[in-house]
Amino acid sequence: MDYRSFMHARRAEILERISGACARSGRAPADVTLVAVSKTVGIDEVAVACEAGYTAFAENRPQELRRKREASAAFPELSRIRWDMIGHLQTNKVGLVVGQVSLIHSIDSLRVAKAVDARAAALGCRVPILMEVNVAGEESKTGFSTDEARSASAGICSLEHLSLEGLMGMAPAHDPAAARRAFSDLRELRDTLARDTGCRLDELSCGMSDDYVIAIEEGSTIIRLGRTVFDPAYALQ
Ligand SMILES: *Cc1c(COP(=O)(O)O)cnc(C)c1O
Repeated sequence: MDYRSFMHARRAEILERISGACARSGRAPADVTLVAVSKTVGIDEVAVACEAGYTAFAENRPQELRRKREASAAFPELSRIRWDMIGHLQTNKVGLVVGQVSLIHSIDSLRVAKAVDARAAALGCRVPILMEVNVAGEESKTGFSTDEARSASAGICSLEHLSLEGLMGMAPAHDPAAARRAFSDLRELRDTLARDTGCRLDELSCGMSDDYVIAIEEGSTIIRLGRTVFDPAYALQ
């Protein structure tokens, strides 16, 4: 199968899984945004994915995000796609991202939130963000701890040039039961923070190639899929 055909066929299978998960949990497929994570591929593959119907892409490194956005100028069909930032952001890289993306999923400290706010103020824009929470408490993962998220949320919510829209999280790998627990913990934390802050926090960005079906069943509104979208060798779960 050529790459184009793979991309179309795989997309159909992914959409079917999304609607199955939505049907099981009484949700509408339109309430789940699929973001294609393009960090392992080049702009040509992004263009093929766009042709197959993907409209939102994400990168985890600021320089690569910038590079792909610039490269996409050569593809008229890419002028209308959305780019998100999903990886750790250092304060000195904020300028590469603010004004370039539709959503920053990975705000993981009050310090970086303030840096993004300052940059947005300078550009005269308001940046939609999520707080990344290390909800399973894994050593290797970035993000606020649950307690830190509770103490930082009011401060972040009050920053004038940020719009805090929800939470982002990742689940432990290779353990479906632990993944389900992590996603439901993230949803409950979202509900708590929404009550505490009065912010709406509608968005829950969780679910990757191995666990997005579980994430949708637990309330995810944004799934971030890399391998299953772009890698023909990735075996569907
Ligand atoms: C790479 C990445 C993904 C996509 O992971 P897959 O398992 O390839 O679907 C999602 N979120 C973040 C933050 C990533 O870095």
